Amino acid sequence: MRKIISILTAFVLSLSLINVSAADDILLYLNDSEIKCDVPPVIVNDRVLVPARALFEPLGASLKWNDTIKQATVTLDDLTIKLKIGSDTATVNGEKVKMDCAPIIAESRTMFPVRFVAEKLGYIVKWDDKQRDVYISTPPKEPEKNKITSLNVSATADILTVSAIFSQPIAGYTDYYVSNPTRLVFELDDCRYYDKNLPVRAYGVSQLRMANHDDYFKLVFDMEDSLKYTVSQSITKQKLTIKISLPKAPKEEEEEDEKPLPDKEEEPVVPNKDSVPINGFDGKPIVVIDPGHGGSAPGAIAYNEDGSIYATEAEINLGIAKYVYDILKDEGIEVYMTRKTDKDVSLAERAAYANKLGATLFVSIHNNSHTDHSISGILTLYSADKDTASGGVQSSKDVAWAIQQQMVQAIGKNSQGIRSEDDLYVLRKTNMTAVLAEVLYMSNKEDVEYIKKEKNQLVAAKAIAKGIIKALKEG
Ligand SMILES: [Zn+2]
Repeated sequence: MRKIISILTAFVLSLSLINVSAADDILLYLNDSEIKCDVPPVIVNDRVLVPARALFEPLGASLKWNDTIKQATVTLDDLTIKLKIGSDTATVNGEKVKMDCAPIIAESRTMFPVRFVAEKLGYIVKWDDKQRDVYISTPPKEPEKNKITSLNVSATADILTVSAIFSQPIAGYTDYYVSNPTRLVFELDDCRYYDKNLPVRAYGVSQLRMANHDDYFKLVFDMEDSLKYTVSQSITKQKLTIKISLPKAPKEEEEEDEKPLPDKEEEPVVPNKDSVPINGFDGKPIVVIDPGHGGSAPGAIAYNEDGSIYATEAEINLGIAKYVYDILKDEGIEVYMTRKTDKDVSLAERAAYANKLGATLFVSIHNNSHTDHSISGILTLYSADKDTASGGVQSSKDVAWAIQQQMVQAIGKNSQGIRSEDDLYVLRKTNMTAVLAEVLYMSNKEDVEYIKKEKNQLVAAKAIAKGIIKALKEG
């Protein structure tokens, strides 16, 4: 091997400050395979220059040489780089770019600064200082992911339709049911969408959840019961339509867990001591505690990041309700529960149960949910239609206020006040004073982490019981 190479460019030779050293020990690698150069790379001012043709042709670039003006034009796809011998200014797509060193001619070969040109062409360049080798590699190419460009959800009384439009033909999909609670899952291969849950206004399907996974996109329908569905694809495989047959909505059984926020907190109502009981109260009060949901109806669900269930509303409602029941029982109050286990109880059964018992007060226990996960707080609902005191207990509105105040004080979270809700089945169909406590939000991370803890369920239960006892005493 030659130890010295002759530098032919008068330009280089004339600049005594430039230190050109032969560097035949420098090896050049492209994606780990060595590129043989007929003229060895040289180092000029710490920059490695390599013979242009030897390197850039394997990189897929084309080279043109204009001998009159000593200019090389390198083109790759829509990139054009012009380099002039002896000039440290290159033009990249017509724009002037300064380089650390100028191209030279060595042994009648044009020598380019390897890093500048290779990086401009989109390659990764690494210099191994110990081995004095240059490594050029193709950057790992991100394959273009199929994207869902639009996702539409619409529902009629019997059909829920979800249609997704993709940027590329869909590679495939898997659909299956998961039970406890019932979920219909679609895994769409190799595609992505923004991770956002959509509220679904359809009886039988409570929510549509979405998540991007490494190699698939997941659509999950939260359902009360498994429902029949069909899936169809357009000929181009760029549109996928899911149609879910919805069950008939019983007119009276609609229950809303998600409510708009009240405009402002209602003022406390001073109990009217002179209110005359409508039904003369002459016996002991009977309280019915109603833990919302249960069995195949989990209510609102809080999920872990991996999509597994963190907590269901039904279990938290029951946890709180059991404590309320125990506290009231210890106080010597006659108390009943609409369910004591995780089982299905219809709204009609709940109301009928309380009516049959001739209960004085009905307290339904729930936890709220909202698509806006930042929303947090405590809310108590009552029916304005029943805003009259019945024997032995305050009016629904006053009881709601008593419970709300106690909960806010004990739990110490934001109060959303009390609100009249006239279309809640259990409030409307019960014959007695009735309220529904939305303790906290299942959809809010801090709220659900708090209320999932048993000791905090006891805190909420004590507050609700305190409110009930106060309402019974003052009624
Ligand atoms: Zn609920």
